[in-house]
Amino acid sequence: MSQFWSDLVHTLTPYVPGEQPKVDNLVKLNTNENPYPPSQKVYEAIASVNDERLRLYPDPNSDALKTTLQNHYGLKEGQVFIGNGSDEVLAHIFMALLKHDKPLLFPDITYSFYPVYCGLYGINYQTVPLTKQFEIDPADYRIENGGIIFPNPNAPTGRVLALDAIRTLLENNPNSVVVVDEAYIDFGGESAVSLVQDYPNLLVVQTYSKSRSLAGLRIGYAMGQSHLIEGLERVKNSFNSYPMDRVALAAGVAAIEDQAYFDGCCEKIIHTRENLVEFLTKNGFEVVPSAANFVFTKHKHLDAVDIAQQLRDKAIIVRHFKLPRIDQYLRISIGTDQENQALCDALSDIVNA
Ligand code: PMP
Repeated sequence: MSQFWSDLVHTLTPYVPGEQPKVDNLVKLNTNENPYPPSQKVYEAIASVNDERLRLYPDPNSDALKTTLQNHYGLKEGQVFIGNGSDEVLAHIFMALLKHDKPLLFPDITYSFYPVYCGLYGINYQTVPLTKQFEIDPADYRIENGGIIFPNPNAPTGRVLALDAIRTLLENNPNSVVVVDEAYIDFGGESAVSLVQDYPNLLVVQTYSKSRSLAGLRIGYAMGQSHLIEGLERVKNSFNSYPMDRVALAAGVAAIEDQAYFDGCCEKIIHTRENLVEFLTKNGFEVVPSAANFVFTKHKHLDAVDIAQQLRDKAIIVRHFKLPRIDQYLRISIGTDQENQALCDALSDIVNA
């Protein structure tokens, strides 16, 4: 094969997703899904989608869901953008808003999709090291006429940045687009959505995949002032794409309406996380403070890959990243109490062997 053909595809470095096993008999703690099912109201909404109307295209603007989200977050018309999962929303953001002459800034340990998008869309980037305690220091982020993106809480560390620090970052960079990726915000952080009206440079991204138990439906959204949202709509319209199918649209509205179920799930997950942190700390692990539905942890003596393999042998899967500085850490999603007990029993056997 000539150099032309091999260069054509091999210069791209694709994202490597977490394993999605084909069997059901595993305790799956590797990709941060919600261990609890979606609200009963979501199932009812899905069932109520009238079959006959499935032959018709959905609303290309997903207006019903936009209105629901606008009301829920106290936003104005034109301040919400919707996509098929926040990964797709992020793709639109990278294409529409983050390509500049200046490099895009993001933490050196972060969501590994960001450099992949940069490769895909020809965006120059620069990583900014986290502090020794894996924190984002807002003072390290300064760029004129460029862009900044980070998850809050960060992934895979789980550390959260306080709203004051985000405000500082926004004020230090008034001429750059600042994207706060809040995939895990409902498990302990304070959302930057309350800052949207004050900062024209802020875009907040959220997803239904974690706190709303709907990773299987693919719903994500961005919130910001209308000049930013307009950029995303332009990219979407250039593809002539429909952000939501009829089923996802109905489910998305119902999930927001059932606030009590949502609150209950988040509380249970936070409680289980606290139990897991206590167990890990008592059993020789160091745990990075987490505001997410996962913990990032390493054992003081035992090898991370070895622990992951031993867990796998006991039908429990967790995530390991073969990356500098974090290759002794494991990221463990929070499961149900029963799954958590199975994890703790397995880890007890491993550390006391
Ligand atoms: N942002 C972060 C930080 C994530 O960890 C994930 C999940 N892998 C996403 C965005 C994408 O989530 P989804 O596409 O399921 O909405």
